[in-house]
Amino acid sequence: MTDDTPPEDAPRCSYCGEPFPSERLRALHRGLEHYDRLDDDERAAYEDAYRAEGEDLRSFRLRALAVLVALYFGFLMLYAVVAV
Ligand SMILES: [Zn+2]
Repeated sequence: MTDDTPPEDAPRCSYCGEPFPSERLRALHRGLEHYDRLDDDERAAYEDAYRAEGEDLRSFRLRALAVLVALYFGFLMLYAVVAV
């Protein structure tokens, strides 16, 4: 049995009531879905969350690239050892 009901204290969107696992995700949702209705503080929170998300994404891409390069050379060396 899975329990998909969000906890009672989950941050909820004040416009549509949708629950989110973190304040940052709620700020992103509000900026994307209800941008016209946000006040200045909510827009600032959205812009901060958007910027932080961009930095996380850049860091993830770098780490993913490093893993791919390591895998590529790992298999290349394995091939060189096994296939000769
Ligand atoms: Zn909403």
